[in-house]
Formats: sequence, structure tokens, C-alpha cells
Amino acid sequence: MFRLLRSHPGWSFFIIATGAIATSEVLWSIYNSMCKWIQWRKAQVHEVLMFNELGFDCILEHRKYSKEGRMYHCQNVHCSQRNIERIIEHLSKAKYSIDLAMYSFSSIELACALKMALGRKVVIRLIVSRHWDTKVNSQLANLIRWGAQLRTQNSSYFMHHKFCVIDGQARVDHIWRQKKRKYGPETTYSVLINGSLNWTDGGIGANWENVHITSHAQMATEFQSEFDRMWKAFADKSSAK
Ligand SMILES: [Zn+2]
Repeated sequence: MFRLLRSHPGWSFFIIATGAIATSEVLWSIYNSMCKWIQWRKAQVHEVLMFNELGFDCILEHRKYSKEGRMYHCQNVHCSQRNIERIIEHLSKAKYSIDLAMYSFSSIELACALKMALGRKVVIRLIVSRHWDTKVNSQLANLIRWGAQLRTQNSSYFMHHKFCVIDGQARVDHIWRQKKRKYGPETTYSVLINGSLNWTDGGIGANWENVHITSHAQMATEFQSEFDRMWKAFADKSSAK
């Protein structure tokens, strides 16, 4: 074979070059797949946050220190403040969208996290109960002023959900289509935050509550779908000012 290659240098070069290109293409493809897998693996999250009496006193300490401009170095594994910081961490990773269905919303900390997201041009939609302008929903007026969109039902039934979809795939695709960009959006991974917790100071610091955070794509898709359905259904019934 080597004799054959030596006798046909042109063909030899062609065969070696073709082989090298094919090999580099395969290696590049494997490298890209591995990078995507590592990125996907890092984005996977499945965690449960419990708010209970073991964290109630703790959060009062955090708030007291915070008012004094000091950091409270907490060792409590049941810390309610740490739970909230986990939620804020996920909100801070939103790239395109946050859709929040929340019966009551008055947490200043979580409102600030949403304000930061609005500052990053994340599109935020809120659906709340019809009592959105009451004291328990005190942060909603601020969020609207900062750029969030809000809808609410005004029937005798309650919009009692407490869930949040971050970068839901269908929503990201919709936002990107509106931008009419030539290339697709940056890769995102949806995160669903769901549970019994109203995003209120009372709920965070004085109730027994649970929050489940997951990157399970199908679950996020189903919640995103219901949010989109409600958003359309409440379009004509909005009592938002
Ligand atoms: Zn703590």
C-alpha cells in the first residue's frame, strides 16, 4: 500500500487530507456534544425547600441584621432565609422570561430579584388573584412601574397558584420570534418553582410551606402551557390598573 501511495503522490495527499478533515469533523462533533451535555448536566436542579418552625426565629435574626446593614452568618440548616436565597439565585439566572402565577405577593426581597431581572431585559409576566392592589400584594405596583406585565382574574373564584416558570422553552421561542433575529436564542434550560408558598413576608417567615424547584423539562412545559392559557383567558377580564 505504501508503495502504491509513493507512486501516486497526488492521490496520497488527497486521501490523507480527506481522512484528516473527516477525523477533525468527528472530533469536533464529539467535543460539541460533550460541551452541551456538561452544560445541560450543570443546569439540572431538583430540590425541595421546607419552611417550618425551625427556620422562623432564624429569619427574624437575618432581618434584624439586614436593617443594621450587617451580615448574619447563619448555621441553621433549616434557615428560611437560605431557602429564599435559593429562589433568588434561580431568578438571577433567568435570561429571557419569568412567568409568575402567585396568589399573593409582597416580599420585598423577591420583588428586588425581579427588578434586577427586568434590568437585564428579562420579560416578566405576573398573574395574581383579583386582590392585587391590597396590602398583601404591596409589591405589585412597584413591579408594574419597573416594567413587569400583570393580569388578574376578577371572577368569584381564586387564582390560587403559586408557581414560577423561568425561561420556559415555548415562551423563550415566542420572545425570540418577536425579536425577528436571524439566529436562535442562547441555549436556555427551563426551571419550575412550585409549591405552597405565597411570596409574602408572612409566608416566608411564619408559615409551614414547601417549595419544589426542578429543571424537569416536561413539568416546566406543562406549567408554562397553563400559564400561557391563563394569560390569554384573563386578557379581557384584567382588573389591573
Ligand atoms: Zn438563617
